[in-house]
Amino acid sequence: MIAVSESSVPAADEILGAPSPPVSSNPKAWVFPGPTDELFEALKAERYRKIILQVPAGLTRNAHDIASRIASATGASVVVAARACFGGCDFPSKDESVGAEAQVVLGHAPIPNVPLAMPTFFVEMRHPGGDPEGLAEIVRAGSLPARLGLVVSIQHLDLVPALREALARRGYTTFTGTGDRRLAYAAQALGCNYTSAESVSADVDAFLFVGTGSFHPIGLAFAVDKPVFTLDPLQNLLEPPIDRGALIRKRQLTVAQAMSARSFGILVSSFAGQNRSSTAYALQRRAITAGRDAEIIVCGRLEPGDLEGRALDAYVNTACPRIALDDGALYQRPMLTVPEFLMALGELPVEPYRFDTYH
Ligand code: SF4
Repeated sequence: MIAVSESSVPAADEILGAPSPPVSSNPKAWVFPGPTDELFEALKAERYRKIILQVPAGLTRNAHDIASRIASATGASVVVAARACFGGCDFPSKDESVGAEAQVVLGHAPIPNVPLAMPTFFVEMRHPGGDPEGLAEIVRAGSLPARLGLVVSIQHLDLVPALREALARRGYTTFTGTGDRRLAYAAQALGCNYTSAESVSADVDAFLFVGTGSFHPIGLAFAVDKPVFTLDPLQNLLEPPIDRGALIRKRQLTVAQAMSARSFGILVSSFAGQNRSSTAYALQRRAITAGRDAEIIVCGRLEPGDLEGRALDAYVNTACPRIALDDGALYQRPMLTVPEFLMALGELPVEPYRFDTYH
């Protein structure tokens, strides 16, 4: 076991509030709403010889058309990364991008505090659709409370001004918050950061997430103690509030299972925007001070098989917090987020539950 002095062990709140290191040497970043002529012109102007294109799983079918349009517009050699990316925190690896002079990332906004290894073109794939009047009418018919915090996925951010006006005409007061330096836009959400919502939580009766799928509404429900409704602007569907209590009870059960763990694996990601090494080392020192063994495990894309057969009782994931929250059941041993680990050590109360906000 490693020995640590108490003076080198940061307090729980210090660990949870610690921002990522500042990004001081980022190369140039460009942002485009979609694969527009402006994107191709900007790429051509830089005279790159090799460009790597990266897409998330949901946009794979767009990848090859866009790759060939970039190639014909610029004359550059364009390669497509096979590995789907998770978010604006995850770029092509050094091995995937050998020789590339720029990267084009589809479907994500820049995360301001994530370092970039090369010039990066973010193509946010903003969606022009959605009928603000029709959507506001659905909200009214659903009898949602009068003060609503809006949280919107990047693809639907352009809908916000008109939707706010349409809701105001129906008596709603809406709030859009500004997040910390991990969020590029007001009202935006990341699966690991809902600070825009948190900044207006005291002013609202409920949150309305505008976008598709359940990933963000679930994260938002973990982060804020207010009802979270979901409005799908493409299918014109309003979903009932997420059952926050059930989500949290499940996590508290996992925390309880990990309380008796004697040995922890502390996972650290090698992805540029998921690397919380200093948090991991701080947690290791806290675990050792509490009389537990703790070992740092470095990973890229984590698969359940990576942790099989290890003589460890539980894991703490300092990489993407959604791995523990959404996929924890796929792992043989309890996997905790950073605040959950502090709960398991008895250093944070289990109530109120604290979401693992990645600052
Ligand atoms: S850390 Fe996770 S939730 Fe946050 S941006 Fe990356 S993939 Fe998304």
